[in-house]
Amino acid sequence: MTARVLVVDDLIPNVKLLEAKLRAEYFEVSGAFSGLEAIEKAESEQPDIILLDVMMPGIDGFETCRRLKASSRTCHIPVVMVTALDQAEDRIAGLEAGADDFLTKPVEDVALFARVRNLSRLKILTDDLRQRNAQGAELGILTNSQLAEFDDLDSTILFIDNLNAVDSPILDGLPEKYKVIVETDPISALQILRSDTVDLIVINMALEDHDPLRLCSTIRSLEQTRHTPLLALVRQGDTRKLVRALDIGVNDYLMRPVNKEEMAARIRTQVRRNHYIASLRNSFHASLEMAITDELTGLYNRRYFSNHLASLFERSQKQELSLSTLILDIDHFKKINDTYGHDVGDAVLVELATRLERNVRGIDLACRYGGEEFVILMPETDMAYARMIAERLREDIASRPIEIKGDKPQSLDITVSIGLATTDWSDGNESPQRLVKRADDALYRAKETGRNKVEEAA
Ligand code: GH3
Ligand code: MG
Ligand code: MG
Repeated sequence: MTARVLVVDDLIPNVKLLEAKLRAEYFEVSGAFSGLEAIEKAESEQPDIILLDVMMPGIDGFETCRRLKASSRTCHIPVVMVTALDQAEDRIAGLEAGADDFLTKPVEDVALFARVRNLSRLKILTDDLRQRNAQGAELGILTNSQLAEFDDLDSTILFIDNLNAVDSPILDGLPEKYKVIVETDPISALQILRSDTVDLIVINMALEDHDPLRLCSTIRSLEQTRHTPLLALVRQGDTRKLVRALDIGVNDYLMRPVNKEEMAARIRTQVRRNHYIASLRNSFHASLEMAITDELTGLYNRRYFSNHLASLFERSQKQELSLSTLILDIDHFKKINDTYGHDVGDAVLVELATRLERNVRGIDLACRYGGEEFVILMPETDMAYARMIAERLREDIASRPIEIKGDKPQSLDITVSIGLATTDWSDGNESPQRLVKRADDALYRAKETGRNKVEEAA
């Protein structure tokens, strides 16, 4: 994976040094020599990550970070503060300014590469989600202050620790809505993770009797926790373990002995980020769902049907498997609307959709094709079998009246007409459009010749 890194430092040799190290690892690097230049370049070049010196003349690193995180054009770019002072206060000031991570000068290679890789991986993920969302809703980019709103959400943090590395006063600085669970047994911890929603997992990397790295990798491989942020507590100087942990996918770390304020700040950052990504994901799924389903019946819509038909047709053609299409239209539906009103008409459509779903197999796809027309696509299905399904469906609808609930309960007898067609691979001109057209013609014939019946394409 390669990423574009913006290195910011007022001292040219420092920029050159980091540049050389990162280039050697195939990152693309550009430099800025002041806070203002950094902001300008961040906006115009949109790097994947920014390494930001703290001590600079003019606006310092903290102020630069604040401005980057306050602008909707740059707030999504991860910022790593590079500080000469290994001072907890500095780190905290940085985190408050919105920094995503820290490196201490002189910068160790392992920590540098692990951090840059980890954060750019995260950025690629959020970029992808943001982009997909941008097509649907106008969500996407959140500023630092909007991120802070996530503090008001109920959040659960799971500590996995059997050495009491963290005593409870450390957790005092957390927002009120945070619920903290401390689990000493990794096996029970995994059980909790399987059943409950957890927003952050904190692991002591010196667990007694257990391999914490294995635990991290198990957590990363579980479906429920694949994306849950992981924060590692690492003994000062245990760089090897830290690097392994970051490679496995740990998102952030704290050195022990733990500084209380720093821990609270890092926990908050991770939890906010988790809520942010979850909200991106949810809105993406919601807009995706809206794009492919019919609002009234919950069935797939016509657009989805067309796309699905195209790919299913291609696959069936390659293997010369029969693909059948069923088009169904309610008989004299207009009369139901005219007699009982549009709402009753809607209720009939909903009930009909339910019956369709009940009568098709798992591999079949039922869609609402138009007003009171539905289609069912049946892969690996020949005409004889398709006819059987169609007859069963027609019979089910004709024999059981539709019960309308509400203030004026009704029992309505309805019937449907069905047209059927199956692919003909001996015809060199066979196409999805022709298949649907033949089914439609058959439906027309069913209507012409009396309704409440199934007709096959010629
Ligand atoms: P036929 O047996 O020939 O199919 O007669 P029909 O009355 O069912 O067919 P026609 O195409 O003349 O009328 C279809 C009616 O379906 C007209 C339209 O108002 C109604 N319709 C279409 N969409 C909806 C909907 O979403 N809700 C309701 N309640 N009615 C709808
Ligand atoms: Mg009709
Ligand atoms: Mg119609």
